[in-house]
Amino acid sequence: MNNRALALFSGGLDSILAIKVSQRAGADVTALHFINPFVSEVKTEYIKEKAKELGVPLILEPLGDDYLEIILKPKYGYGKAMNPCIDCRAFMLKKAKELLPKYNASFLISGEVLGQRPKSQMRHSMQQTAREAGVEDILVRPLTAKNLPPTLPERLGIIDREKLLDFSGRNRKPQMALARELGIQNYPSPAGGCLLTQVEYGKKLKDLINHGQYDLREIKRLNIGRQFRLSHGAKLIVGRNHEENEALKASAKDSDILMRVQNFKGPLAVLTGNDISYVALKTAARITARYADCPKEQKVTVTFYRINNPKNKEAIEVIPMASEEVSTYRIE
Ligand code: SF4
Repeated sequence: MNNRALALFSGGLDSILAIKVSQRAGADVTALHFINPFVSEVKTEYIKEKAKELGVPLILEPLGDDYLEIILKPKYGYGKAMNPCIDCRAFMLKKAKELLPKYNASFLISGEVLGQRPKSQMRHSMQQTAREAGVEDILVRPLTAKNLPPTLPERLGIIDREKLLDFSGRNRKPQMALARELGIQNYPSPAGGCLLTQVEYGKKLKDLINHGQYDLREIKRLNIGRQFRLSHGAKLIVGRNHEENEALKASAKDSDILMRVQNFKGPLAVLTGNDISYVALKTAARITARYADCPKEQKVTVTFYRINNPKNKEAIEVIPMASEEVSTYRIE
């Protein structure tokens, strides 16, 4: 066993402090950040900056379809929203363990603090997570280590347990004080950025799962625009502004239908799914027209095309849907 460690690095204060404290205790740390489809990509840029500031090498590891399986069918259930934190943590720790030989590292570091979060950071959950991932004896939690039994690197003296900390509970003042002492500024609030912790997002994710239409692309665009369920096999997403219209266009797949109201200012809408009937198409056009800057009581023309065949534009005439009816299709 050597003193090289991979530190799970979310970019939050605890993960920053965990790196600093374990370095003081003798570890040679590499930060490991999982690129998570449920965390905004802007955050990846921030992660790179922070690792640079900390002066540690950074591994960026994307989470793929196997991660999705865990999120959709968690063994230990969800938190307040659709956040299966115990399964998610166990998955990441297991992945991190698998990466140890590749980076010639011997143990893992995590910024968890005993009792800090209601479900995932209780003693029982922390033990369960580590056991599930098979890392009980090689996972060092430097911020709370003195509240836990010594791990292998501590017992072997590879890192100095005396220099590890005994933080516990929900009070974050000790972390703030340590951050000040170490001159650390500009860190996000804990758990910020994970879409799975948002109740509204959870409802949209549940809709995808219930209708069997989930893949990473669908999951990524759950946070764009207004979302409507038209039938089991058809869903509509309507942009709310120019940025969302552009994001929707960029996210479209070959089978998607893009639509807009002709001759009036209005949103771009994407009709997606594996069973798009004429009824669904017409409903989509009526909803799209609802959000356009056009008269609401007379027929308007909605043009549409498949993303892989933009020259083949078709058109349908509809009367915009009334807002009460629109709300019956809204996923919320
Ligand atoms: S907050 Fe999100 S990323 Fe963090 S453990 Fe929970 S589900 Fe996973």
